[in-house]
Amino acid sequence: MNIGIRPLCVQCKVKPRAYGYKKGTKIYWRRLCDTCNRKKSHKKIGGITPLQRSGYKKRNKCELCGFKAQDSIQLDVLFVDGNLRNTNASNLKTVCANCQRLSSVRRLGWRVGDLQADD
Ligand SMILES: [Zn+2]
Ligand SMILES: [Zn+2]
Repeated sequence: MNIGIRPLCVQCKVKPRAYGYKKGTKIYWRRLCDTCNRKKSHKKIGGITPLQRSGYKKRNKCELCGFKAQDSIQLDVLFVDGNLRNTNASNLKTVCANCQRLSSVRRLGWRVGDLQADD
């Protein structure tokens, strides 16, 4: 009984498949490796979001209403085109929690690249 052979992930074909379950002496592997499984369920990989990887630094005030934050926790990063993977500088805006909420109920007039960075 050879349980040493571990099939490769059907998606990336690089990493070995994740462990599924064992039935008697036979091991059943999952179709995907751990990384692909995680990607599939849209979980963060390695705890780093594309935004963190981009190195984007929040400004100290809201770019919409001009609210000056006392603490950066009051500010969020808004993805202008709604695509959380688009970390292009022109797609990222610092907005306060109020504006962040508003942006989810009404479309902002912003288009990607509308505003110029001032630093
Ligand atoms: Zn994989
Ligand atoms: Zn605001």
